[in-house]
Amino acid sequence: MNDRGHLPADTLDLLLMDALERTQANAARAHLGHCATCAADYKQLVDDKQRFEQYVLPRTQAAVAEGVESRRWLRWLSPRVWAPVFALASVGIVALLVTANPTQTEDEVYVGVKGRSAPSLEVFAQREGGSPFQVKPGSTLKPKDTVRFVLSHVTATHVLIASVDGAGTFSVYHPFDGTASAALGAAAPRHELPDAVTLDSALGPETLYAVLSDAPVERHAVEAAVRANPRSPALAGARVLSFGFLKEGP
Ligand SMILES: [Zn+2]
Repeated sequence: MNDRGHLPADTLDLLLMDALERTQANAARAHLGHCATCAADYKQLVDDKQRFEQYVLPRTQAAVAEGVESRRWLRWLSPRVWAPVFALASVGIVALLVTANPTQTEDEVYVGVKGRSAPSLEVFAQREGGSPFQVKPGSTLKPKDTVRFVLSHVTATHVLIASVDGAGTFSVYHPFDGTASAALGAAAPRHELPDAVTLDSALGPETLYAVLSDAPVERHAVEAAVRANPRSPALAGARVLSFGFLKEGP
């Protein structure tokens, strides 16, 4: 317990890593059972870990498979780097997010401690008036689902969210149908974007791109970058987060 009667962050980290003594683990789980605050913190850790395992790790492995070994950033992906990183995980550095973007410089390869400080794009969907649910990268949505976007830990002042759907159509989802990035408003740890976008009937894989920058970026520049390199679009002065899902019919 810390001084406010909650589980300290490192206890949660160790619990996630299965690295607590059994009695400590039992006590921690008992606390999670009745404390919504700690349970929410723990869920965040679990989500970060899942996101890493389901999305970031396969993506980096795919990049390796593409044979871009010569890029300097790739040394971040070697077991020599990873082994100590995973060892560190057991003493409190849990979720590691790596943006494996071959067009970015080594400086831009981002290693976030606990994942909570890495900029992220979260997608929430709603189906036929049901309850909103969080969309996991790579999961399946349906035509007519409504999607919303949440950006976390973003320090950039402007954002444009674009999409390329299964038919290859490029659209701007935020600002909806806009011609350039929109200002994000006052700095905040979490920005819930106002647009709710209803998915059309084009089926297949769809990729979302959140373009984060400190000055507006034109829609046509984003489209050109996405067309040129759908996996890792490069835009001067911008960071691009991507998010893929599948759209399937009923
Ligand atoms: Zn607590």
